[in-house]
Amino acid sequence: MSLSLSAERREPPAEAADGAWLECIECGDTFAPFDAVRYTCDDCDGLLEVRYTDLPSFDDFSGDGVWRYNTALPLESGVTIQEGSTPLYRVPRLEEDVGVEALRIKHEGMNPTGSFKDRGMTVGVAVARELGVDRLACASTGNTSAALAAYGSRAGMQTLVLLPAGKVAAGKVAQASLHGARILEVDGNFDACLDIVQDLAARGEAYLLNSLNPFRLEGQKTIGLEILEACLDDYDAVPDRIVLPVGNAGNTAALYKAFRELVQSGALALEDVPKLTGVQAEGAAPMVEAVENDADEVRRWDEVETRATAIRIGNPVNAPKALPGIRETGGTAVSVTDEEITDAQRDLAGEGIGVEPASAASLAGLRKLRAEGVVESDERVVCLTTGHLLKDPDAAAAAGNDPEPVPAETEGVLEHLQR
Ligand SMILES: *Cc1c(COP(=O)(O)O)cnc(C)c1O
Ligand SMILES: [Zn+2]
Repeated sequence: MSLSLSAERREPPAEAADGAWLECIECGDTFAPFDAVRYTCDDCDGLLEVRYTDLPSFDDFSGDGVWRYNTALPLESGVTIQEGSTPLYRVPRLEEDVGVEALRIKHEGMNPTGSFKDRGMTVGVAVARELGVDRLACASTGNTSAALAAYGSRAGMQTLVLLPAGKVAAGKVAQASLHGARILEVDGNFDACLDIVQDLAARGEAYLLNSLNPFRLEGQKTIGLEILEACLDDYDAVPDRIVLPVGNAGNTAALYKAFRELVQSGALALEDVPKLTGVQAEGAAPMVEAVENDADEVRRWDEVETRATAIRIGNPVNAPKALPGIRETGGTAVSVTDEEITDAQRDLAGEGIGVEPASAASLAGLRKLRAEGVVESDERVVCLTTGHLLKDPDAAAAAGNDPEPVPAETEGVLEHLQR
């Protein structure tokens, strides 16, 4: 079994319920979607995907936000705080400066808790409710915990989050805390947190809402659907390329799945599928390594470091879903330095778009690939910015201008300004 944009559609299996089922991407085994808690394949432990009896086309969509796309989702409605419908900004100066035909910024920091994780949680927490579980849990570099805490509290459910001690930006911890999550600070990195929370979930202690959970990726597909609809409105074509930061590669997998379903429904031509282009920080770049070596598997990095804490991940769990997406769309993966990330964060801020460091990796990666000639000047590109500036106030303050002390009277202020 392998994922492919042009794969034959299979007949719905006996386990299909309400038009959806779960299917193992490795061995093809199928499971009923809501009969039991299950994150991976019972037989081979492979990753699961939600599959549908009917696939969406653009005419099916109506309304706003993530649930505009409910015909492409496993439920008709979810636990919502009005997520999705985020802006796609034009940035003419950056477009000119980077040197591409068209550049747009899809700012996922404009979601209710300030990151795209809300799109996954509105679906994932609704499925948890459907399954009748009472405690939700995740490991997180920060944003997943903020989103889980908010959506969990909205649904009236308990939430437990495991964070790598000292490696989560202040805004994110504050959110998880105020929204009432129990926060466990683990003396280890994100990958260690995920190992533990997977063990807890396997022992029935909590329902896992990391992006290993296939339902979360369904919600995140809507980023791709929104981008395509907005570009069709804007310049009457889908973009040639989408550039995005990569941590666990959930978004890469989700966008690929959105495109696959549109190709299979006939709504998107195979040759029009945007090239998925992943960006990682140099200090945490196992996906880039796999793409560069044309490897089938990603090697786990035990030591990872970057200022972009949201993508400080050494073992991207969704790699088996994301690598085929990067390859088959003709995309690539590239790593950037922390300095390049901070420069890109300032560039975006200069256009009025405030993002956290990981988000700016997309623009930094685009610049690098454009300079190398991998991205061509006639391309129409969308960069995904995944989280809001206020998530990481320390990084923003360090990248920006320093406050200047002045006396508390106008003459003194004028004198200072003239200096
Ligand atoms: C979670 C997150 C990422 C990484 O996304 P993946 O889907 O795990 O690759 C990137 N940026 C921000 C701000 C995030 O919160
Ligand atoms: Zn399997």
